[in-house]
Amino acid sequence: MHPPGADVVLVRHGDVSTKSPTVKRYMEGTLVENLEALLADRSVPGEVERQWNRPLIHTTEAAVADAAETAADAFGVVSASAALAVTPEKAAICEALAETARARYDGGSFAIDAHRAEKDHPFTSRDLAIEGGDVIRSAVAEEFEPEVDLDDPDLTFGVEVRETAAYIYLEKVPGPGGLPLGTQAPMVALISGGIDSPVAAYEIMKRGSPVVPVYVDLGDYGGPDHEARAMETVRTLSRYAPNVDMRAYRVPGGDTVALLAETIEQGRMLSLRRFFFQVAEHVAADVGAAGLVTGEALGQKSSQTAQNFAVTSRATTLPIHRPLLTWDKQEIVARAREIGTYSDSTIPAGCNRVAPDRAETNGRLEPLLEVEPDELAARAEEAAANATLVEP
Ligand code: ATP
Ligand code: MG
Repeated sequence: MHPPGADVVLVRHGDVSTKSPTVKRYMEGTLVENLEALLADRSVPGEVERQWNRPLIHTTEAAVADAAETAADAFGVVSASAALAVTPEKAAICEALAETARARYDGGSFAIDAHRAEKDHPFTSRDLAIEGGDVIRSAVAEEFEPEVDLDDPDLTFGVEVRETAAYIYLEKVPGPGGLPLGTQAPMVALISGGIDSPVAAYEIMKRGSPVVPVYVDLGDYGGPDHEARAMETVRTLSRYAPNVDMRAYRVPGGDTVALLAETIEQGRMLSLRRFFFQVAEHVAADVGAAGLVTGEALGQKSSQTAQNFAVTSRATTLPIHRPLLTWDKQEIVARAREIGTYSDSTIPAGCNRVAPDRAETNGRLEPLLEVEPDELAARAEEAAANATLVEP
């Protein structure tokens, strides 16, 4: 819900504000580009203005709600509000509050949340709260007797006063937070079509790193549905990053999985993971990525014990980032639903057949290297070289 006549969107960022002026200017520039790309991709009209400390989107009243929702999908954005702009004077602000109340107030308690970004105005936030409250009460007095509730109001009238304008809004659409996409080096994200890996990729994107998705085709052990799930999650992720090349590397791994299934009983899943990491390392070298990302979580599966991470991580010299390391499954599922990858990940797919009957939970590198095929690294290099690129 927004005030009648609202045609701008206030975009608030968080961690960007903590940066030095130079870094902040650069990060805000990236955020503006990303906002423009998101609006264009979703055909939402809007001009992004780069104001001191915050971007502002100029749009139309018809599109303002969509523009706020779109802005709240940009990494680095803490919240976005569809707002009405008025002159930064008390009379104009009070008049706008009265009109907004007449149009939108429908019973229940209310509060005014006033801020001044600019301290030079001849009135304080407190003045606005007190006078604004009176104005709102009298605007609706014929029908209602609204109570102020500062702790848990049914409707909050936000007022933000800046140097050249004041903004009235009724809602803050929460964004992901983090930092603008593109302000960190890219990383290779191992995407499996499961629930976890797209969430892990999203979390890394949220901190500014574009991801290069890599899906290893497990041949007879995976199946086309498995791949379809992986690609569907990549497509969903790419909606958050329309200005980033998110073509996925589809790497043929069927022969190697079959070989591992034939030759290794104990530790098979660890060698498979080591193969994935080596494949990803080659892709990372090709695209200039600075690290790998997986959806692994400590203890979630027998292959994901602390000891097994110590063994699998040694397959590459690149850092392996596991943003979900400490997350419970239900937290991961909740985030997957929020970002829209959950339904993609649960398209039925036959898999899991690679795992041996007895899982290794306490792997050791030396004994594993004795049974692991010597040509694993060469196979990883060849598989990466034979990758095909899939459009999201
Ligand atoms: P999810 O794949 O969502 O984590 P999962 O827990 O069933 O579900 P595992 O098989 O335990 O996944 O794999 C752990 C991680 O290894 C995944 O999060 C993913 O990053 C990577 N991975 C697994 N299978 C593949 C694959 N076929 N291609 C690329 N990466 C994969
Ligand atoms: Mg998992």
